[in-house]
This record gives sequence, C-alpha cells and structure tokens, in this order.
Amino acid sequence: MIDTARYKVKPGAKIRLQDYSTKRDEAADRREVEDCLMPANIQKLSVLQERLYAENTRALLVVFQAMDAAGKDGCIKHVMTGINPQGVFVSSFKVPSSEENDHDYLWRIHQKAPRRGEIGVFNRSHYEDVLVSRVHDLLQSSQMPKDRLRPDIWTTRYRQICDYEKYLWENGVETVKFFLHISKDEQRKRLLKRIYDPDKNWKFSASDIQERKHWDKYMQAYEDMLPATSTARSPWYVLPADSKWFTRYLVSQVLAQKLEQMNPQFPELSGEKRAKIDECRFILEKDGLEI
Ligand code: AMP
Ligand code: MG
Repeated sequence: MIDTARYKVKPGAKIRLQDYSTKRDEAADRREVEDCLMPANIQKLSVLQERLYAENTRALLVVFQAMDAAGKDGCIKHVMTGINPQGVFVSSFKVPSSEENDHDYLWRIHQKAPRRGEIGVFNRSHYEDVLVSRVHDLLQSSQMPKDRLRPDIWTTRYRQICDYEKYLWENGVETVKFFLHISKDEQRKRLLKRIYDPDKNWKFSASDIQERKHWDKYMQAYEDMLPATSTARSPWYVLPADSKWFTRYLVSQVLAQKLEQMNPQFPELSGEKRAKIDECRFILEKDGLEI
C-alpha cells in the first residue's frame, strides 16, 4: 500500500514545488490499480460515507486546487463515482459574481460548507483568493477598503483561512486539501488535446493560455500558501498529477484513510426507538400473514 503521508505538506516548512514530483513516483501497476485497488477504495468510501450520513454529526470537506487541466474534474468524477449522490455535494468556484464581490471572500465559501453527514467537494475554493488574486493583484481594484490592503495581506488571509478551517473542525467539519501538481509540459499536451479533440473543445478556454503565461508566479503563490495553510487537522497533499490514474488512486487512498480515521458510527437506538421498531415489526409480520 502506498504511504500517502509523504505527500503531506509539513505545516510552516519552506517548500519548493520543483522538489515535488509531477510524475508517478511509486511503483504501481495501472491494471491492478484500475481493476482492484481503486474499486476497493471506492467501495470502502461508499460504506464509510453511508455511516457518516447515518451518524449525521460530522462532515468532510475535500478541497481541490490546481492549474488548469491538472485533472480536478476527472478526479472528482472518478473518485466520487459509486458514492451515494445524496451524501456528496460538489461546488465549483468560478470568478466571483458582483453579488459575491459585495461580500467578504469567505461568504460564498461558507454557504457551500457541507452539512452534517455530507462530503462536500470544492472544485477550486477560498484558496483562489490567495492565488489568482495574488498573481493578478486583484485586490487593488477590488471593493476592499484601501486601509485594509496592507503589504502583509496574504499572511493575514492565510491566518483567516486557518482560523476558518479550525472553526469548521471545532464544529465537526474536517478538511482534506489536494493540490494536483502537473508539469507545465503535461499541461501543454492536455490543452492541445482539448483543441484537437472536438468532444473536448468545450473544456478549452482561451484564458487557460493567459494563465499559463503566469506559471512561475502561480508556483510561487502555491509555494507560499501551501505550508502556511497546511495544518495537522487540515493538511495539504501535493499529489503528482501527470498521470491521471495514479493521482485518482492517491486521492481515493487518502480519502478512504481519512474516513477510516474519522470512523463514523451508525447511531445507537434508544430503548424507546428499539421498542417502537419491535412493535412495527410485529404489525408488519402479522399483516403479511393476513394476505
Ligand atoms: P474553471 O475552474 O476552469 O471553470 O475556471 C474558473 C476560473 O475562475 C479560474 O480561472 C479561476 O482562477 C477563477 N476564479 C475562481 N475563484 C476566483 C476568485 N475568487 N477570484 C478570481 N477568479 C477566480
Ligand atoms: Mg478551466
């Protein structure tokens, strides 16, 4: 079994993304992963998710961040397949609307925080507000009051985000965060595929090319943000993303382990409820006999 702990970002450590592999860095057989290991993880997730739903006290928030075409959508699709859709909600965060911009940046995020019993998946997240906002210096032209735009605004936001995730944890919502780490060359190939393949054209956006020009600035923003917001309770995982099947497998592995560790339980029936169930069983069994 792959040790996923080594993909975790140590809180506060200085990191260089070039030290993290974008390529598959563990021996794994694709056939075995796709035919056995991945389905086994998904089965595990499905059973644990049912217990989480029944327990109805805690929730799990799964955050995905990455450069374009790193495979966030595919990962969500493949890993969440097989889980009861009643208990999983995916939220995609796009360029904020004018209503969203009228509020603080966590306003739209918290509306999508998972309910008790649910797994909430964020396809992009509040982290865009320390990534794209930083790379494009968006705060200068935003509605933020000028006197709050101090030079340490990003450190301030990291603190706010850590506080927010701590708040969630203290209220029963646990968080796991994935950065899908793709190489610039693999992104080029995937974007070209979106252009060559007519069925994939819809996924292509000219803005992806614009963002790609800022690759280094994005990497710097990630390098700064990841250790500043990776905590023991809501860690970041930097996963190699050049090989889609391998990334999906790692994600399924981390999530299965996370839910195992949360160990949700079916609620215990009170004596009163037990007695009611026995009474109903008696009625139904007798009903059957009369037919
Ligand atoms: P996609 O996920 O490919 O559909 O693209 C969504 C776009 O919305 C990306 O370019 C994100 O960077 C952008 N986006 C998401 N959140 C924010 C935000 N808070 N501020 C500015 N742009 C954002
Ligand atoms: Mg896109």
